[in-house]
Amino acid sequence: MFCPSCKKLMRPNASKGVWICPKCNTTVKMGNAKIVEHEQAAGKDVAVVEQKVATLPTTQEECPKCGHNEAYWVLRQTRGADEPETRILQCTKCGHKWREYQ
Ligand SMILES: [Zn+2]
Ligand SMILES: [Zn+2]
Repeated sequence: MFCPSCKKLMRPNASKGVWICPKCNTTVKMGNAKIVEHEQAAGKDVAVVEQKVATLPTTQEECPKCGHNEAYWVLRQTRGADEPETRILQCTKCGHKWREYQ
């Protein structure tokens, strides 16, 4: 927070709820800018995680653990071109992970 009249860095006075300029004693009421910023950052993290899960493709595979018939899947990274591709499946219900061998 900088002083609106002399542009010096202001000091917070939490007990009065104001910013005080050490040079010209201008006071500015503290807003809740810091709290809002923090809440936005926390919400952003959640949104990123939700998006990550939501963008994974799903397939109708039966979960060997709970019997649910829908799972997210990703292709395992293979190094050699002659290696068969393996799908890693994750149950959308219980989160169990398993490999699909072809
Ligand atoms: Zn000032
Ligand atoms: Zn399951």
